Amino acid sequence: MQPHKAGFVNIIGLPNVGKSTLLNALTGERLAIISPKAQTTRHRILGILNNEDYQIVFSDTPGFINQPSYKLQSTMNSFVKEAFEDADVLLFVTDNKHKAEDQQHIIDLAKKSGKPVLIILNKIDLYGKKELDELTAYWAAQFEGAEVVPLSAASGINAKKVIRKIVALMPESPAYYSKDEMTDRNMRFFVAEIVREKIFHQYDAEIPYSCQVVVDTYKESDDIDRIKCLIFVERESQKGILIGEGGKALKRLGTEARLDIEKFTGKRAYLELLVKVKDNWRNDDDILKKFGYN
Ligand code: GDP
Ligand code: MG
Repeated sequence: MQPHKAGFVNIIGLPNVGKSTLLNALTGERLAIISPKAQTTRHRILGILNNEDYQIVFSDTPGFINQPSYKLQSTMNSFVKEAFEDADVLLFVTDNKHKAEDQQHIIDLAKKSGKPVLIILNKIDLYGKKELDELTAYWAAQFEGAEVVPLSAASGINAKKVIRKIVALMPESPAYYSKDEMTDRNMRFFVAEIVREKIFHQYDAEIPYSCQVVVDTYKESDDIDRIKCLIFVERESQKGILIGEGGKALKRLGTEARLDIEKFTGKRAYLELLVKVKDNWRNDDDILKKFGYN
């Protein structure tokens, strides 16, 4: 029998390279929200992959922001720094758009940590063989001793291969979490994240970045969950945009979010959304703490 392996695998990289998509592809669950806009991910999220012989505890991180312009962004950066310290293996994700000099701080932190690194060259569906070969050689030269694994997180190509390589790098250890767990987050968290994802899809400009979603009540029963969510915005004008003419925009948001919540829980949901104004919440320490960014 093989010795049991377990470890913490942290996914690092610039915003928008596909870290959250990768987390979902590797765990086979839709744990992390994804959008074409940068900085969709605000928290660290654990996703757990269980097998008889191993347990991989993945964590997705917000992308590192070079020059934080408000407090929420500094807090997001501190989550990223933590990710280097508590990892057994680092997955450094990049795509064909970014060079080493765009992300030298991440590379330096990864090297300084002394942890084994797998370089995930993502979005290979977007470029050809020649570019892939060049990029593979380029990235192998940046990290001595680290292996480059080309992958398409969106289509799942090579995901199994990445898992095999991770297991090879992980230490022998008993499991950290019960083997029937797939995440450390509860349904309240996922509901808030699903609503936030739909906001990112439906609204433009600064709106998604100014919204905070809080689950106010969550009443579970066998066949239906009754959920009330508060959406905090920073200004009265943003509230108007969120609600839309005759409440149409908010209604659409509620429907889209509800459908995904139902997919996630496997039962019906009743979802109520309320919009509230909380001045300048992104720069308020107490509010950030209350929203769980500490
Ligand atoms: P994160 O900020 O690093 O977590 O990136 P996300 O996972 O949110 O993805 C950012 C964008 O890249 C989204 O629009 C994804 O759909 C897209 N994306 C992620 N992986 C792939 C991939 O393998 N191929 C392509 N074409 N797009 C991808
Ligand atoms: Mg993300």
